[in-house]
Amino acid sequence: MADVIVIGAGLAGLNCAALLREHGIDVEVVEASDGVGGRVRTDHVDGFLLDRGFQVLFDGYPEAKRALDLDALDLKAFQPGADIWWDGRMRTIGHPLRDPRSVPQALKAGIGGPGDVKAAATWLRQAKPLATATAPETTADQRLRDLGFSDAVRERLLRPLYRGVFLDPDLNVSSHLIDQVFSQMASGRTVVPARGMGAIAEQLAARLAGGSIHLNERVTKVGEGSVELASGTTLHAEHAVVIAAGTVDACALAGIPAPDARSSTCLWYAAASSPAGKRIVLDGDGTGPVNNVAVMSEVAPSYAPAGQSLIAASCVGLPAGDDAALDAAARTQLTTWFGSRVHTWDLLRIDRIEWAQHAQPPGSLSSGVRWLRDKVVLSGDGTENASIDGALRAGRRAADLVIAATVAAKV
Ligand SMILES: Cc1cc2nc3c(=O)[nH]c(=O)nc-3n(C[C@H](O)[C@H](O)[C@H](O)COP(=O)(O)OP(=O)(O)OC[C@H]3O[C@@H](n4cnc5c(N)ncnc54)[C@H](O)[C@@H]3O)c2cc1C
Repeated sequence: MADVIVIGAGLAGLNCAALLREHGIDVEVVEASDGVGGRVRTDHVDGFLLDRGFQVLFDGYPEAKRALDLDALDLKAFQPGADIWWDGRMRTIGHPLRDPRSVPQALKAGIGGPGDVKAAATWLRQAKPLATATAPETTADQRLRDLGFSDAVRERLLRPLYRGVFLDPDLNVSSHLIDQVFSQMASGRTVVPARGMGAIAEQLAARLAGGSIHLNERVTKVGEGSVELASGTTLHAEHAVVIAAGTVDACALAGIPAPDARSSTCLWYAAASSPAGKRIVLDGDGTGPVNNVAVMSEVAPSYAPAGQSLIAASCVGLPAGDDAALDAAARTQLTTWFGSRVHTWDLLRIDRIEWAQHAQPPGSLSSGVRWLRDKVVLSGDGTENASIDGALRAGRRAADLVIAATVAAKV
């Protein structure tokens, strides 16, 4: 009998459990897989750090600042802006605020015109963090049109950039989300921890009591203050069971319909030399299959052994064909970007992640962290938004509910 059982050692479950423990509440975490982190894990492969799918942290995420010791993560930053492959050549756009000279350079390179500079300035003034968003909600695609960006900037820069963030080819995503991400990118840094994205989860897990995370234990049923494990054991919680099992599993355990999935595929390559710098490289032509490339070892040298480079080539969705066909198609595309050296790269791994995020159309964003029934709380990114920030917030809100209930029970 624990005070609280948390299902899932992803960021939501770990943050919830860490906060409960810090309030003197005895928590046990039950995790189906063989490690902590859920969708945010890093594997050590031949001296490379391979995250499970390409992902990044925005160091301005309000909930990350609240939940994490960012300094201890030894964050390494991408260079702001982007390199865009479009119409047979690579063009660079810098951060207009931090590097004002990049604006005339981008205009000279044919990336947009004065109308786009005006649209970006308007967006900067209007974009707000999610919690304070008040503008009428529409789709991200419509938001970019309403701001008045030219077709070229929308199609060549903004769509590939935000397709890569939301994994939604049509940008049928709440405009409040694209506003939030734009404001994070404009005001903060895009980073990865030196020890890989999995270090975020490890930091949270280190705040729990030794032996309180039970790996390789799948919950098959949730009762009021109890869980049944696949092994046949039943565990009991005095105050609450918190379901933080990732959107699809959480919905199944809660008995509610799951939203649609947004998928992602990442090809990890090792190379003798780096094909690009610290900026993200975008497919401005929209030909695919690769939507964006990041040289992780340029951003964080610890991601690769000395003298080697680690390249993440990311696709939105799950491209058809087997690994050999996808690898061949990616190399054909990237040879036009980086030249014939692409054929010397070694393919380390392909991550095909069906359930990377959930669909987040307008109207889907209200917080769903709640008591489902007596002694059962629903949490996880599906109850906030599909991001590290959303998962951490979902964990904190679940902890707040449980703490309030335990305090009330003692009075
Ligand atoms: C490829 C990819 C790219 C992404 N890019 C970004 C990005 O750049 N920036 C960003 O902010 N976010 C990004 N995200 C989203 C972000 O990673 C997630 O929103 C967040 O990690 C979700 O955390 P969670 O704890 O809610 O769920 P999860 O991480 O899914 O954790 C749920 C845990 O529950 C466990 N579990 C499931 N069922 C059971 C069961 N029955 N019993 C016990 N345990 C169970 C799972 O094994 C898992 O460990 C990305 C995600 C992916 C996959």
